[in-house]
Amino acid sequence: MKAVVKFKEGTGNVEVRDVPEPVAGPSEVKIEVKAAGICGTDIHIYYDEFQSNPPVVLGHEFCGVIREVGENVTEFKVGDRVTSETAAKVCGKCMFCRTGNYNLCPQRKGLGYGVNGAFTKYCVVRKDIVHLLPDNVDFVSGALSEPLSCAVHGTIEQTGIEAGEVVVVVGPGPIGLLSSQIAKVEGGFVVVIGLSVDKEKLSLAKKLGADMEVNIEKENPEEIVKDLTKGYGADVVLECSGSPSGARLGLKLARKKGKFTQMGLLGKPIEIDFEQIAYKELQVTGFFSHNWSSWEKALNLLGQGKVQTKPLVTEELPITEWKKGFEKKEKGETIKTILYPVG
Ligand SMILES: [Zn+2]
Ligand SMILES: [Zn+2]
Repeated sequence: MKAVVKFKEGTGNVEVRDVPEPVAGPSEVKIEVKAAGICGTDIHIYYDEFQSNPPVVLGHEFCGVIREVGENVTEFKVGDRVTSETAAKVCGKCMFCRTGNYNLCPQRKGLGYGVNGAFTKYCVVRKDIVHLLPDNVDFVSGALSEPLSCAVHGTIEQTGIEAGEVVVVVGPGPIGLLSSQIAKVEGGFVVVIGLSVDKEKLSLAKKLGADMEVNIEKENPEEIVKDLTKGYGADVVLECSGSPSGARLGLKLARKKGKFTQMGLLGKPIEIDFEQIAYKELQVTGFFSHNWSSWEKALNLLGQGKVQTKPLVTEELPITEWKKGFEKKEKGETIKTILYPVG
């Protein structure tokens, strides 16, 4: 079967290759991939800025149909429409595994970079990380349940928003667009912040329910947030841009005793006025990946129609055109690209 493979360490070294079809082990299921999303992490893997384990099939955001189940699998059957978490391998013994926080297991191997992933026709995963797709969720929407679970983990589980709170989402990329919808469901008044180049993404945020969009090249976000909060500042800041300037702005916009969550990955150490955390008595947190509970919440939200993922999809390509998808993603010309298997 054809697969997008990172075949060697170093920049690039990604190509479409023929790889053997995998077989489900005793506690695994074999999923026929129906749709898979390109993630920012895939671009980092391309440039070797994110550690992978070559040769490895890329792709970790996907859904599909079960075609084979191992002998110990009773929870799923052939024909089930499913999606999967990305914690392909964990130790099961450490403090994090034992407390359900296996996303933080030091032995964790991620699907699509630690072990073979989903930019291909068939993908094998352990049964414990498989989730049924709600019947009314199509494959394109379902392929984005992974980033949605990340956003649920960061927004609901790590941050927690109370109804009526003013929530600033810095950066309208995929995680920002999903987090702003979740913050709305939690009852927040959501202000999404971006730049002129984010024009379309900002209006999509509004279309998906955000209360306000702010282009910081045209408006002053500090004044706007002060006006909304009797001068206090934002109750909650979700920093989804993963940029130093976004993080600095977010820290500035948060009110005293407010919450600040670093949702975007910066990729390198940055310079920031860390002391603000002390002066403002901020609650600062972050998140990494997701766990079982975030997936269940994410799939409920999708099934209930409270959050939408499909409007984020701006391009659909066969896996053989992965390079085009990667390049457009890198230039910021797309929000989400879906890849389909060939053959
Ligand atoms: Zn991802
Ligand atoms: Zn562990």
